[in-house]
Amino acid sequence: SEERSLNFLEQIVEDDIANGVNGGRVLTRFPPEPNGYLHIGHAKSICLNFGLAQKYNGQTNLRFDDTNPVTEDTEYVDSIKADIQWLGFQWATERYASDYFEQLYNFAADLIKKGLAYVDDSTPAEIAALKGTPTEPGKDSPFRSRSVEENLQLFADMRAGKYPDGAKVLRAKIDMAAPNMHLRDPLMYRIKHARHHRTGDAWCIYPMYDFAHGQSDSIEHITHSICTLEFVPHRPLYDWFIEKLDIFPSHQYEFARLSLNYTVMSKRKLLQLVNEGHVSGWDDPRMPTLSGYRRRGYTPSSIRTFAERIGVQKRDNLIDVGLLEFCIREELNKTANRVMAVLDPVKLVITNYPEGLVEELDADNNPEDEAAGHRQVTFSNTLYIERDDFMEDPPKKFFRLGPGLAVRLKYAYIVKCDSFEKDADGNVSTIYCSYLPESRSGSDKSGLTVKGTIHWVSAAHAAQAEIRVYDRLFSVENPASEEGDFKSFINPHSLKVIPNAMVEPALLEAKPGDRFQFLRLGYFCADPDSTPGKPVFNRTVTLKDTWAK
Ligand code: ATP
Ligand code: MG
Ligand code: MG
Repeated sequence: SEERSLNFLEQIVEDDIANGVNGGRVLTRFPPEPNGYLHIGHAKSICLNFGLAQKYNGQTNLRFDDTNPVTEDTEYVDSIKADIQWLGFQWATERYASDYFEQLYNFAADLIKKGLAYVDDSTPAEIAALKGTPTEPGKDSPFRSRSVEENLQLFADMRAGKYPDGAKVLRAKIDMAAPNMHLRDPLMYRIKHARHHRTGDAWCIYPMYDFAHGQSDSIEHITHSICTLEFVPHRPLYDWFIEKLDIFPSHQYEFARLSLNYTVMSKRKLLQLVNEGHVSGWDDPRMPTLSGYRRRGYTPSSIRTFAERIGVQKRDNLIDVGLLEFCIREELNKTANRVMAVLDPVKLVITNYPEGLVEELDADNNPEDEAAGHRQVTFSNTLYIERDDFMEDPPKKFFRLGPGLAVRLKYAYIVKCDSFEKDADGNVSTIYCSYLPESRSGSDKSGLTVKGTIHWVSAAHAAQAEIRVYDRLFSVENPASEEGDFKSFINPHSLKVIPNAMVEPALLEAKPGDRFQFLRLGYFCADPDSTPGKPVFNRTVTLKDTWAK
C-alpha cells in the first residue's frame, strides 16, 4: 500500500502502544445495529476498525448492537456477516449486546446501590419538560430522591413485567444542571414488551444505547472504541458509567462519518426506498449498500481502496461519489476482459465480403494485462454496430461512419460507407459498406489510416442480452439536506433497461458477478437475473467520468 502519514487514530494507537497502555494490546469492534443492510458508510468504519487492528497486531470483534427489539431481525444479522466477509475481513469473535443483558442489568443494580440511578415514573413529556435547555439548567424529577431499596424493588418489578411500556424508566443520577445535556440524568432502561430476535420474551426492559454500548465495550475489554462524531457529547457519559462501575476502561474516539453526494446514507431512509418500492431491494445496484455495490459490479478491493483514499477526518464533509467510481474504474481497467457489445444495434452489410464466409479474428482480452490472453471473435458480412456510430449528415470532426466515411472495425478491417437505407419511420435500417481486404488488424497493408475505431458483433453469431444502465439515484448533491421529502429528489432516469442488446456469444457463459469492459461503453457485471439464453448485465461504471457537474 502507498506511503502516507498516520491518520489521527493510528497516531493514538501508536502512542498507546509506546506508552504501554493495555500492555500494547489493540482490540477494536465493529458494532452494527441489525436493523438494515450495511452501506458504504459502514464500510468506512469496517475498514477503519479492522484495518487498525491488522496494522497493530490486534483483533476486531463483531458486536451486534441489538438493543431495539422492534426494528431488528436475523435477516439483517446474516446479511451483515456476509457483507463484512465479502469486504475481506474476519472478526475475532461474534458478540451480541443481548448476550450481556443479564450483566448490564446487574451493572444497573450496582449503580442503584451506589445511589447513582433511580426509577422515574414521569412520562416522557414530563421528563422532557424538566430537562432544561442548553443554556438553562434542568430541574430534578420528583422521583429522584427515592431510596436505594425502593429503586431496587421497582427496577426488579420493571424487569418482572409489572408495568406497561412507558410507565417507568431507570435513569442515571448525575446532574440536572450539567452543561452537557447528555449528563442530565440520562435514561438507562426503558420498558418495552417486545419480542427480541435472540432473547425472545425473556426481557421486557431494554438498555439504552448509552448504557449498553460502553459497558459492552468494557466487558469485551475493547481498547479503542471508534464511533462517529455525533457521539462526541456522549463521551463524558461513556466515561462516567465506566468510572462509577469501576470496570475495564475502554475509551471512545470519534471520526467523521462518510457522506457521499447524490446519495442518502441512513438506514432509515434506505429502508423507506426499499419498502416503498423506489428500488428493487436492499441489493438494488443503485443502492449505496454493500450488497447493491456488489451486484453493481464493485469489487471488495475497490471499496477498500476508496476507504483508504478518503482517509479519516475529524470534521464532517461530503465526498464526491466520483471518487468511488474512480476507484472501481481504475481497478477494472487492469482486471476486466474486453468484449464487444452493441447496445443500440443497427445493421451493417459489407457488400464485397463473400456471403457465407466466416473468419475468426484474433482479439486481445486486455491490453493492460498480457496474461489475460487472446480470444477469437467471429466476423462475417453482416454485423451490428452502434446506431450512434453512424450519422447521415455528419459534422466535420465525426470520425466514425457516414456516407463516404471510413472507419476501422475493431480487431478487423477498415470499411467505407457507400450507402444506407431507412425504414418507413425514417430510421436508418441498414448501412452498406465495402471493406479493404488488405487492412486486417495485425497485418494491415492497406497503407490507409483512419481516425476512428468502432466495435461490432456478427449478426448471425451474436447473442442477445439485457443491459441495465444506471445513473445516480438522486438528482441533487445532498438529498438529505434539502427541504422536503428526500424521495422527491429521486432521479427518474436512474435505471434504463435495454432489453435486446447484441453481444459476443461467449457472454452467454458469463456467471453472475463476472465483470467485463464492453469496449468503448464501460464496465459491466453479469447479474443474478441472467437466464441460460439471456444474460443480464449491469453497468458498473462508465469508462470515463462523464458526469456533467
Ligand atoms: P445509520 O444512521 O445508517 O442507521 P448507524 O450509525 O445507526 O447508521 P450502526 O449499525 O449503528 O448504524 O453503525 C455501525 C457502525 O458503523 C457504527 O460504529 C457507526 O458509527 C458506523 N457508521 C454508520 N454510518 C457510518 C457512516 N456514514 N460513516 C462512517 N461510519 C458509519
Ligand atoms: Mg448506531
Ligand atoms: Mg441508526
